[in-house]
Amino acid sequence: MLSTMQDDVPLTISRILRHGMTVHGDARITTWTGEAEPHRTTFRATGERAAQLAHALRDALGVRPEDRIATLMWNNSQHVEAYFAIPSMGSVLHTLNLRLPAEQLVFIVNHAADRVILVNGTLLPLLAPLLPRLETVEHIVVVGPGDTSVLADCAAQVHDYEELLAGRPTAYDWPELDERTAAAMCYTSGTTGDPKGVVYSHRSVYLHSMQVNMAESMGLTTADTTLPVVPMFHVNAWGLPHAVFMTGVSMLMPDRFLQPGPIAEMIAAERPTHAAAVPVIWQGLLDELAATPRDISSLKTVTIGGSACPRSMMRAFEDLHGVRVCHAWGMTETSPLGSLAHPPGGLTPEEEWPYRVTQGRFPAGVEARLAAPGGGFAPWDGSSPGELEVRGPWIADAYFGGVGKPPLRPEEKFSPDGWLRTGDVGVISPDGYLTLTDRAKDVIKSGGEWISSVELENALMAHESVAEAAVVAVSDEKWGERPLAGVVFREGCEPLPYEELCTFLGTTIARWQLPERWVTLDAVPKTSVGKFDKKVLRRQYAAGELEVTKLR
Ligand code: ADP
Repeated sequence: MLSTMQDDVPLTISRILRHGMTVHGDARITTWTGEAEPHRTTFRATGERAAQLAHALRDALGVRPEDRIATLMWNNSQHVEAYFAIPSMGSVLHTLNLRLPAEQLVFIVNHAADRVILVNGTLLPLLAPLLPRLETVEHIVVVGPGDTSVLADCAAQVHDYEELLAGRPTAYDWPELDERTAAAMCYTSGTTGDPKGVVYSHRSVYLHSMQVNMAESMGLTTADTTLPVVPMFHVNAWGLPHAVFMTGVSMLMPDRFLQPGPIAEMIAAERPTHAAAVPVIWQGLLDELAATPRDISSLKTVTIGGSACPRSMMRAFEDLHGVRVCHAWGMTETSPLGSLAHPPGGLTPEEEWPYRVTQGRFPAGVEARLAAPGGGFAPWDGSSPGELEVRGPWIADAYFGGVGKPPLRPEEKFSPDGWLRTGDVGVISPDGYLTLTDRAKDVIKSGGEWISSVELENALMAHESVAEAAVVAVSDEKWGERPLAGVVFREGCEPLPYEELCTFLGTTIARWQLPERWVTLDAVPKTSVGKFDKKVLRRQYAAGELEVTKLR
């Protein structure tokens, strides 16, 4: 028996756009400019300019449905225009991670066969040297001021964004697309191997946006203003630009001003109520505020994810600034919302902590299981570890195989029955709270037992003299592998003897897990999206480039 519902109404991005620009037409997008006044616009005006952009792409540049249109842009209102125009007209938005090494950027533009690149003028110096190697790009559209002389020898046609939009109609007859049509694509940051392209559908974006808006997720309302510090090229700024058009939440966009100073200034001046970013950004902000106090009291919550958020950072935000941190887990392949750490109701603030430091609970749209080390699945008992596998309507089913090629389903990423293998190792409690202990490839296998590098890092970063810590497995004759602890001491703190850090760790960590190899670092190497890049540390260790001290 079939339903009697309007199941044929497709869940498309143009519906989100139409809703946002009419029902929430006055909601604001404010972009930081570094000048006296930020740039201010509304959802209504953004929607009208999205229509102009679609006309320009179709009529002036000959863009067709399914063409990939790339953006190399910061978080700003023009990027939001592209976010809605490109998928709504049936083409595919490809956000380029501007922090990727040149080689990888060239790889992904060619792999996706992008026809057009919208680029912020300030990023032209980054793009120009790559152009001779970009095989499919026919048009470069420059958004905002920048030195276009670097494009003098470029084979592609160069356009100015504002000139392209000027005078075009402010409404567009968006096609009624199949909700499974490709809407946007994002390549994983390639911590291992070549970057792999995840292609989101209109349906997956729509459903994920609803999830972002749920109270047990980010739960924002028209009274809120969110500051997505997380870049729009990093898993669609965690879905915020789409989600806010559903609910009328205003946005404060940082553009290229991502250093702690300007972030603190824009929070003080524009008073957002919510913000989202990876832990390194927040650590920088905490340090900045300690040195130069600013009023960030407008922030009620910040969502932190992308890598494990140390408890010490959550406490510092709450105790020093009255800002509540919500820890979240996700991946490019999961759109990214996979889990969020909201505690159960009815607890005292102190009782909430053990829940809040986990990676959180899965929403109804994300099913999870733990593949046990010896085969089968580990129980949700809070202590049996396994590799996390997930499935659901906003989880990737495959990677983009390239133009005209079938999708890729590498065995190490997808189980035979179609679940995504996340590469993350952890435990799940009976009430569904996920605690990650490691990435599968970072687990330290010592004498047949597993040591969690993340647990050691968090314990080290809880020490007041330690700014950052990264722990990696190094080979050991006796035990197979042992942890090597790399520490960055806080500015102004005397480096401590490693024995003292070991004693400190011993208060929370089992003795046999304590590292005997130690090294002091100037900074922990980071990936293009600000995560600890442990493969660099491993390489430096293997090449004998680190000055390692061995205790005992
Ligand atoms: P990449 O895999 O290239 O780093 P992603 O941005 O997709 O790119 O990263 C997803 C990974 O980031 C997850 O598989 C997980 O290892 C890590 N991660 C994300 N959020 C958290 C978190 N809250 N705690 C620990 N690890 C996290």
